[in-house]
Amino acid sequence: MRILLWGLLPLSLSAHALACADQVVALSSLSEHWEPRSYSHVESRIQGLKGLRRRVIGRVQHEKKPYKLYSLQSLGAPEGKIPVLLSAGVHGDEPAGVEAVLHFLETLSDTDKDRFHFLVFPCVNPIGYEKNTLANGKNQNINRSFLAQTRSTEARSVMAALESQGQRFAFAMDFHEIPHYWADEGFIPEDNPRSAYLYETHADPEKRIGRSMLNALDSDIEICQWASIYRDTAVNGLVTYPVDCRNKHYAAGTSLDAYANAHYTAHSFTNETPISWPMEKRVRTQLSWLRTALDHYARGAHHSPH
Ligand SMILES: [Zn+2]
Repeated sequence: MRILLWGLLPLSLSAHALACADQVVALSSLSEHWEPRSYSHVESRIQGLKGLRRRVIGRVQHEKKPYKLYSLQSLGAPEGKIPVLLSAGVHGDEPAGVEAVLHFLETLSDTDKDRFHFLVFPCVNPIGYEKNTLANGKNQNINRSFLAQTRSTEARSVMAALESQGQRFAFAMDFHEIPHYWADEGFIPEDNPRSAYLYETHADPEKRIGRSMLNALDSDIEICQWASIYRDTAVNGLVTYPVDCRNKHYAAGTSLDAYANAHYTAHSFTNETPISWPMEKRVRTQLSWLRTALDHYARGAHHSPH
């Protein structure tokens, strides 16, 4: 039985729902009951998804423990539907994206099934997810590893899956978060934003929708107001690529959103929510961005993925 809970049922039942792989966790109960971090729990939720084709796209191992990397794909032919690429958990210590993507797929509406054809990488970095680290088991930053000669098994697996698919997407969304302790690439913890912001890449200014995605957030979601985020130019929580790019690491184009934009879509996003927020608020923010982008494309404003 699938139970859709949006804060309507008592917490005891919500907690029960969390314990059962084939039932849907109430978004409203996430902050109370979300516990890091077992990849086997993520896997059981992936395996419990109905109406999606599940594939193992790669395998990694850490301290003799094997992990499978998955893709999930809408059933049926993509023709006539809007193709959408979603990815999460590239950085293991940013779990709200994994939660948001799984929740979205667990509660996928018939309308969305009819309109969209999804390809999803629900947790790209299972070892990091379980260890609560940004990097994978080999201390590699997967989001700097999307390049031809990559040494990251996870990045290679995602790239191979995209290549074998040979499909272009209306948009790609990579779900990330902001760990407040992150310090690397010349930045210190004080450089990490404390509120939500968004990267949007589209070469055509007319087709950018990041501002409306931020405007559509619930009123309790704080948006980063910094004029510069990791050296990039930011305007009211929006970093627009390529125009705002000042960060040499991002300019290298080895992140998943840049890779997707170079090869598989004209429109890509990287979502960012602070991990210090309650899980419910982070997931709600991520899902709101996804909803606004889906609704935009469903209205057919820019139907062509080319
Ligand atoms: Zn990240």
